Amino acid sequence: MKNTKSPESLISTTAREVPPSAIREFFDIVYSMPDCISLGVGEPDFNTPWRISDSGIYSIKDGNTHYTSNKGLLELRKLITSGFESRFGIGYSPEDEIIITLGVSQALDLALRSIINPGDEIIIVEPCYVSYKANISILHGVPVAVQADPSDGFRIDPEKIRAAVTPRTKAILLNYPSNPTGASLDRHALEKIAAVAVENNLLVLSDEIYSAITYENEHLSIAALPGMKERTVYLNGFSKSHAMTGWRLGYVMAPDYLIAPMLKIHQYTALCAPTMAQYAAIEAIEKGEKDVRSMKNEYFKRRNYIVTRFNDAGLKCHYPDGAFYVFPEISSCGMTSRDFALGLLKSKKVAVVPGTAFGAVGEGYIRCSYATSMENITNALDRIAEYVREL
Ligand code: PLP
Repeated sequence: MKNTKSPESLISTTAREVPPSAIREFFDIVYSMPDCISLGVGEPDFNTPWRISDSGIYSIKDGNTHYTSNKGLLELRKLITSGFESRFGIGYSPEDEIIITLGVSQALDLALRSIINPGDEIIIVEPCYVSYKANISILHGVPVAVQADPSDGFRIDPEKIRAAVTPRTKAILLNYPSNPTGASLDRHALEKIAAVAVENNLLVLSDEIYSAITYENEHLSIAALPGMKERTVYLNGFSKSHAMTGWRLGYVMAPDYLIAPMLKIHQYTALCAPTMAQYAAIEAIEKGEKDVRSMKNEYFKRRNYIVTRFNDAGLKCHYPDGAFYVFPEISSCGMTSRDFALGLLKSKKVAVVPGTAFGAVGEGYIRCSYATSMENITNALDRIAEYVREL
């Protein structure tokens, strides 16, 4: 009998229905424009510090080309848990309460897979990282968006989180400092969110991937607040702090009742994180602090410069608390974020991301990454100022 199935019918409904990233359309154009300046990328422009790369290379030369334990190298797990304890005073067992993962991306996926039953709601704070909604929907969960406050540098009012809780809510997914706004959360806000979680018996998934790039204030993890370790899934990694995006290395820490199901899924789907990357990460923790500091200092200088330039160009821009993004307002130009970004790209060859890529509340804003050279930032801002003048 002839097989009459269409190619499309072979694809799962879930895969068919998940929308492609809203940024893709822009980057298809950017890649076809060689002299375009991109403020669109979400990764450090620095190469991985050499001593870290060298350790990875050396580990290969030394024959470390095999699987590690599913949980990751014990030495690395110990360094991470003891580093967290000395920073925040909360201990995790390196044996049972941590898994080394393929970036925060996999750590988050493991966490969501381990907790979501179809229809479960996960509260997210928009504007947020482009993957969150899709990550939840792919697992048949329901992302419930609450809006951060544009008039407060896009910080979230914890009362909005409280108001979004329903009997189906399973967890609150936080990211601070935030991609795309750079907004962070102080102790007071974290305590209020923690109270919502405790009162409603919710988990908190805390994506703190930009925590090492926090400027004026000290970063605090929600996991370190009293009573929160038991309901927090702490996610972090080396991509942003140590300029190691291509090494694909992150980790998840949580109490063992949460780590055990994640480990089962990890065993079946990934086995372990890349071995050479784990050796590089050991070096990153033991010797990389100076590199982290010097990259942060450079981002800090760029942040101050780019914020001033946007405000001088007539586009209101707040000082982000951390990460390497600014989120200036463009609504005064009388255009949508998408039209502004497309026009800028076509007429001045500068790539930025429309704020709507991160949620509807991003309308009227654009995201610009300053993880690029001062020279690029200066030239891009000259062109943006000219574009705004000519509108
Ligand atoms: N979480 C946030 C908020 C991000 O911005 C990114 C990358 O841009 C990730 C997670 C993914 O990071 P990783 O490279 O560790 O998978």
